[in-house]
Amino acid sequence: RALPGDPERANFTRQVTGACYSFVQPTAVKAPALLACADEVAELLGISKESCKSVKFTELFSGNRLLPAMVPYASCYGGHQFGHWAGQLGDGRAINIGEVINAKGERWSLQLKGAGLTPYSRNADGLAVLRSSLREFLCSEAMFHLGVPTTRALSLITTGEGVLRDILYNGNAGYEPGAVLCRVAPSFTRFGNFQLFAARGEIELLQKLLDYTILTDFPGIGAPAPAVYLAWFEEVCRRTAELMVHWMRVGFVHGVMNTDNMSVLGLTIDYGPYGWLEGYDPEWTPNITDSEMRRYRFGNQPQIAGWNLARLAEALIPLTGSVEQLQQAMQVYSTTYENGWFSMMGDKLGLSKITREDEPLIRELLGILPLVETDMTIFFRKLADIETGHDPELRSDEQLIAPLLDAYYDLGALDESYRTRFASWMRNYITRLCRQGSGDAERRQKMHAVNPKYVLRNYLAQQAIDRAESGDSSMIHELLNLLRRPYEEQPENEHFAARRPEWARNRAGCSMLSCSS
Ligand code: AMP
Ligand code: MG
Ligand code: MG
Repeated sequence: RALPGDPERANFTRQVTGACYSFVQPTAVKAPALLACADEVAELLGISKESCKSVKFTELFSGNRLLPAMVPYASCYGGHQFGHWAGQLGDGRAINIGEVINAKGERWSLQLKGAGLTPYSRNADGLAVLRSSLREFLCSEAMFHLGVPTTRALSLITTGEGVLRDILYNGNAGYEPGAVLCRVAPSFTRFGNFQLFAARGEIELLQKLLDYTILTDFPGIGAPAPAVYLAWFEEVCRRTAELMVHWMRVGFVHGVMNTDNMSVLGLTIDYGPYGWLEGYDPEWTPNITDSEMRRYRFGNQPQIAGWNLARLAEALIPLTGSVEQLQQAMQVYSTTYENGWFSMMGDKLGLSKITREDEPLIRELLGILPLVETDMTIFFRKLADIETGHDPELRSDEQLIAPLLDAYYDLGALDESYRTRFASWMRNYITRLCRQGSGDAERRQKMHAVNPKYVLRNYLAQQAIDRAESGDSSMIHELLNLLRRPYEEQPENEHFAARRPEWARNRAGCSMLSCSS
């Protein structure tokens, strides 16, 4: 609540009541150096490529310098962490530096992550390490180009300062290079912003935030009123459902779906110990902090999003007054998700005019995929190569599995019973494709548009980190470039589409990550 210029705006840790945010100052860093900038994001903000290379750019987006109009603040929010109410959390290491209205009239909010202490830093240091910042930088852009709603990343800057982390990383506990990421989104408002005010009984503030959110980020819904609050919640349900469909389509596991990490805009937000499915395994999570409960495992994400929405709904009761109507609105989530998921699976399989009769075909495939370690990305990409030309009944099991062999991590695991079951699925699949009558080439093209060839494989991000930590940032640029066109064949980059190498299977950073970053 301290005013800008007020000595009270010192960034000391505290409970902040009666306010949606607190004014703060980014902490200056010793030797900021730009590692990478996403040109498309700069362009969105009306920043030229040349300006990105300027000293001023690095000073601004490391937090070392402010423009006169910037009034930096950190948001106050709460959240359920791993199913338990955690009270006040807030932007403990994110500082909003301002908003840009670009030439198209779009409003973009800019936030520095890792720029020092705020009132919400609790026991932590307000800082971020290079490895996690690099992972967020690359993955936000990769997700955007995959067509998945996400916050964006403008720049990745190292601070020239060491950050102490208490985890075993590369065999040592100790100092790691620090970094500041500038992330960009229309808004960073989370479920937890609303939850905190409701939990504290700050209903006026709750309403103020919701009215502001509706007017600013959801102008199409109508002027704030109880009926519009419900319509807003339905819209959040719809967007969240669509986001879950996308994650399930591309094999993304967020890793920490706490309610403070859920965007009301339906964006992927807060990239921490996220990961990409290699072997298709609904039980998988990259987050070692969650390895017992596996609450945020791949296959559980849609259910968790629903649970999180129910927590948001609870926070809205004081404004809408009707539990029943909120419960009804929750139906929008399940219906949108179920329909969206079904039609997405149809697209992944190249089935046109999908009906409920296709459901057994989809379910059987999802029953088969986890039986042996099968690379999800490669599998669906290769499936597009199936030819419908000759009668599947006349093809041998071997012929039917041959186009998919690249997807398997261990060919020895494909025993007789697996091959028989898989071949039988494939015969049904091909028969179904023959019935729909579209040509192989057309179907392949459609399938390639929803099944990416290139994703940010966990070990690739780690290789880029290893190199950047030893002073070579070239792989960041190489991957950024690669992931701009994830659905296109890029013959010169074929090696980036390969299965995860064996050395990366259980390596820290490659398939096992912690929240400590
Ligand atoms: P996360 O699990 O990343 O969503 O973070 C949960 C809460 O911890 C949020 O309030 C974050 O702002 C805060 N937090 C995480 N890391 C740090 C850090 N290094 N310094 C201060 N706050 C942090
Ligand atoms: Mg968070
Ligand atoms: Mg985080």
